[in-house]
This record gives sequence, structure tokens and C-alpha cells, in this order.
Amino acid sequence: MIINIPENSDFSIYNIPFGIFSTLDGSPRAGVAVGEYILDLAATAQLNVFDFDTAVFEKETLNDFISLGKEITKKVRRDVQTWLQDENSVLAGKPGLFIKQSEAQMHLPVRIGDYTDFYSSIEHATNVGKMFRDPENALLPNWKHIPVGYHGRASSIAVSGEPIHRPKGQTIPNGADKPVFGPTQRLDFELEMGFVTGKNTALGESIATDGAEDYIFGLVLFNDWSARDIQKWEYVPLGPFLAKNFASHISPWIVTLEALEPFKVPGPSQEPEVLPYLKYHGNKNYDVNLEVAITPEGSGEQTVCRSNFKYMYWNMAQQLAHHTVNGCNINIGDLYGSGTISGKDEGSYGSMLELAWMGTKPLKMKDGSERKFILDGDTVIMRGYAKKDGKRVGFGEVSAKVLPAIK
Ligand code: MN
Repeated sequence: MIINIPENSDFSIYNIPFGIFSTLDGSPRAGVAVGEYILDLAATAQLNVFDFDTAVFEKETLNDFISLGKEITKKVRRDVQTWLQDENSVLAGKPGLFIKQSEAQMHLPVRIGDYTDFYSSIEHATNVGKMFRDPENALLPNWKHIPVGYHGRASSIAVSGEPIHRPKGQTIPNGADKPVFGPTQRLDFELEMGFVTGKNTALGESIATDGAEDYIFGLVLFNDWSARDIQKWEYVPLGPFLAKNFASHISPWIVTLEALEPFKVPGPSQEPEVLPYLKYHGNKNYDVNLEVAITPEGSGEQTVCRSNFKYMYWNMAQQLAHHTVNGCNINIGDLYGSGTISGKDEGSYGSMLELAWMGTKPLKMKDGSERKFILDGDTVIMRGYAKKDGKRVGFGEVSAKVLPAIK
């Protein structure tokens, strides 16, 4: 191995995720994460080892690189894997190509043109239905027939590390007949994964579930911040708006679909039978361990949730097939959120709304405080990794601190 990769690293030789980074002496450029380092792809290209226009590695986003197509992006990943394992490869004796991650700043990896959020975890949808509607009929009649989703806002998606301010808005106090205005009292995270599309479609075109993977470049961790009190008042009849669009965070490294291939697993059985355009073949779920931790200001980190991406009722192929069945076009760099990923156990719920059950079961924190929702000064950290046969492919983390509302 050209550089040392710690045994339990998310960024193993099996991973090779792509991102955009900068250093004090250089502008944003493309790199891959390897152990605790970043291999600088723009600098590597100077060795004339790639047979395409490597200006794509000097851009501020990966969109142009991704647009080269899977044949090329897959070959870059394979080449890097080969070079890293060959002591005599083109990377040998060139320590300047490797930058410590701790000395780099990460940027949004793609220019996100459009962002869609789904609602595809049956456990999450059931929990929310129980709390907000009817415990006996928690799922709405369409839920098992449609991968429910909505169009979110792309402009407010930020990369891990950028703090957010508590949002303000309209809420309605219990029993009141008119709303009040102020900072949200129910700030929440949503544990999600997001996928980035890597191929365009034309208006009018649809993607079949069988071909959907050709359109997916890779995945990131996704924290879809939500203000539950604002959401509750505003969402009728058109769905989420200001309760969701103030910020969402993604992890900086895009883990390719190829890297996740070994971790495919069957999804839950879907009853009743779905319409033909939503049927699929083969394993389309992914076994990715997920966790959420909260670090209160001045205190230690505490894990509050452990879940798994494999719990998803609707898979990404079905989401894309549904999204485009009406001819809606998709573009390179679009982001698609899975929806909150909850499991069956209470400890696997992917939001504070569910973990503390609408504030009725506060979480006890190590510093003696309680959490019903997220407080000012809290940092929320999400992590994810897949592991099988000694091979680990991870996402690193998406982390963000909550600052007080702007006065
Ligand atoms: Mn969401």
C-alpha cells in the first residue's frame, strides 16, 4: 500500500469516494478519501495518467466529472485502487499528492440543481401517523402504493461542518385559535441517506426500475433538519415548506454505487402488490449501519439512535421510477433524500420526534439534561458504514451545530 490506511477506516481501499476539497494554498478541487488522507485528483492528473480532459478535476463541483459517465468514473476508481496497492505505481514517492483530511476544508461535492425528499420508511411513516393522526390507521391509503415525496429546496443544502441558526416561523400553541411568531421550539433532525443522480433524462422520458442504477452516481449521509411545530401548522394542504427548507446537511464524500454493491440485501416484502412500473428484480436495498449522536455544548458525545438503510420500504430504483413515470426530467447532481430512516425498535428511530415520542419521553443526557428536541449549542452528528467479510465502506460523518436564532 502506498499510504497507511487504518484498519477500521471508512475510507478503505474498497471505498474510494469522491469529494471537493481545498487547502490554504489551493482552490477547491476534486479528490478521493483514502484513510486519513485525500488523494488530490487535480494534482494526480498532472502525471498524465488519465485519458480524458482532466480539467473536470479543477472545478468547484463534481458535476462535470460525473457527466463523463460511469465508464470513466468507474475506471478512475479502479485505477486509484490499483495504484494505491502497487508500491511501484505512478503514485509512489509522491507524498505531495496526499493531503491530510485534517488540513483540508471540504465543500459541497455537487452543484445541486433540484432536491426531492421521499418518505419511504414504513416505520417512520407509521410512527408519525400514530402521533399526528390515528393510531389505528397510521398509514394513509396511498402509502403502500406510492413512494410519497415532495420537492424540497436545493439552495439551503449545506456541507457537513457549517453551523445553522435556529429557524423562526409561525406556530400555533396548543388550544390557541391564532398563531404566534418566534424561534421554533421543536427543532429536529431527520436521519436520512441521499443519492446523487449521475445522468440526465429528457422531458417526457421515464426511468425503469431495472435501469435505475445507471442513473445513480452515489450516496451521502443526509440530515434533513425539520421544525416540527412550524411543520404541524403549515403543512395542510400542500405539504412541507418553511419547516424544512431552512437547512439540510450532507456528508462531503460521495460513496459510489459500485462501492456499495457488495452490501446489497433484499428489501421488505411489499404487500399489497405494487403497480407494474414499481416492480423490481434483485436486491435493491443496502445494508448500511447508521447512527446519530448529540454533543451538547461543553459536554461529551452521546449516541441517541442506531438504524440501518436496509429498513427502507421503497428502494432508490422505485423512487426514481416513480419520480420520472410522468416524464419529469432529472439532471446530474440532483439530490434525492430517502426520508427519515427508522427501524422497529425505539432505539432505531431516526428523529427526535419519534425518539422522545412528541416530547412525552425525553431522552436523558449524560450531562444530566433532557432532550425532547434539539437545543441551541447542540451538535448533531450522523455516521454510516457498511461492513462485510472484513471490508468496510463508510461515509464519514455529517455534523452541524445549532446556533441561537438570529435576533
Ligand atoms: Mn426529510
